[in-house]
Amino acid sequence: MSRREVIAAGAVLVAAPFAVGKPNEAHAAPADEAVGEGPFPTRAYGAPNATGPLGPIAIERRALGPADVLLDVLYCGICHSDIHQARDEWSTWNPTKYPCVPGHEVIGRVRAVGKAVTKFRVGDVGGVGCLVDSCGTCESCVTDREQHCTKRATFTYNSPDAQSGGHTSGGYSDTMVVPEHFVIRIPPGADLAAMAPLLCAGITTFSPMQHWKLTAGQRVGVIGLGGLGHMAVKLAVARKADVTVFTTSPGKLDDAKRLGAKEAILSTDAEAMKRLAGSFELLISTVPRAFPMQAFLSVLKTDGTLVNVGAMEALEGVGGIDLVHGRKSLAGSMIGGIAETQEVIDYCVARGIKADVELIGVEDINRAYDRVVKKDVRYRFVIDMASLKGRKES
Ligand code: NAP
Ligand code: ZN
Repeated sequence: MSRREVIAAGAVLVAAPFAVGKPNEAHAAPADEAVGEGPFPTRAYGAPNATGPLGPIAIERRALGPADVLLDVLYCGICHSDIHQARDEWSTWNPTKYPCVPGHEVIGRVRAVGKAVTKFRVGDVGGVGCLVDSCGTCESCVTDREQHCTKRATFTYNSPDAQSGGHTSGGYSDTMVVPEHFVIRIPPGADLAAMAPLLCAGITTFSPMQHWKLTAGQRVGVIGLGGLGHMAVKLAVARKADVTVFTTSPGKLDDAKRLGAKEAILSTDAEAMKRLAGSFELLISTVPRAFPMQAFLSVLKTDGTLVNVGAMEALEGVGGIDLVHGRKSLAGSMIGGIAETQEVIDYCVARGIKADVELIGVEDINRAYDRVVKKDVRYRFVIDMASLKGRKES
């Protein structure tokens, strides 16, 4: 059966019996007890509107279809996209539907599987990134670029939910139901909290390095040292590229070198920018707002590319001539497909690469949001979802 056929068959197969693990014992073998058919009442943490703080809310996860996996969420990273979405900062192109439960860096333990599931068994650990469904048949989907599904992928939160109605809710919650195709295998032995950010920050910075074929010895610049930026540094260093960090925060200059960058400079340092003219094959900008890019185009080599993954609004300060001279490219990139997300997870586990995380409870989410906006995150907040359930993972 194809992925589409399995999903289409879901409605008639939800009554299948499900094996179940003892809920959320992260490192214990699952026990055998009935989980029920669902739908599953779920505790979550979300935004009631664009200005209010996030707080506890109750949501429901759909009954499992044959291709679905029920996850008990263990950890969820906080991406700056969560903040943009919760605060409706993308209203011009992706208005927020409330209540909004963000979270697309999800690590969970499999509590039940639909009867057609082959990729997971109860007790396995799975990851969910930014995607939970796509058409499965368009040119993008059949070439492992589900994020660019021409019928529009279903994103983990704030997407129309074709299966349950309403809109999707993300990983700041104690359970998720996701088609197995969109659940990433997490190899045994991985540091689970530190793996969560790879599901968005990791893949979003890995994918352009793959696409633009960043190789050993090439010079790459990372603009903005936050969640995405620090993963970009680690991933580029792993490829033996020569990494320079451009930051607006003097306090991060030493950190950039600790993370493996050869050089770190303040973006406002005009002398350094002049010295670096014509130096870089690739730049990856993780800055969450539009900013004048001309100075950065000038540090690209001939045929170099500046990949913007951060700013979604109209870009500033890009003169056509800055691209024409030197045949430079200004490009964008969005996360990565499911196969590539699996690839970055496996790549990082094999090399011991993980995010630098600060573990918090749900009650700290609003404070964490404020700190991210103030550029005061070193370098990813990850929510321990045990705090939502009033229990601790071992
Ligand atoms: P983050 O942790 O807040 O990091 C962003 C960094 O950019 C900050 O730490 C800061 O670094 C710099 N910065 C912040 N505000 C700035 C400003 N006004 N001017 C100049 N520099 C500024 O955010 P993130 O989670 O890494 O996400 C970064 C952006 O990528 C967000 O807009 C997010 O929505 C987007 N995103 C896109 C994708 C995609 O698929 N394209 C995926 C995930 C996230 P310094 O202190 O070093 O200057
Ligand atoms: Zn993200």
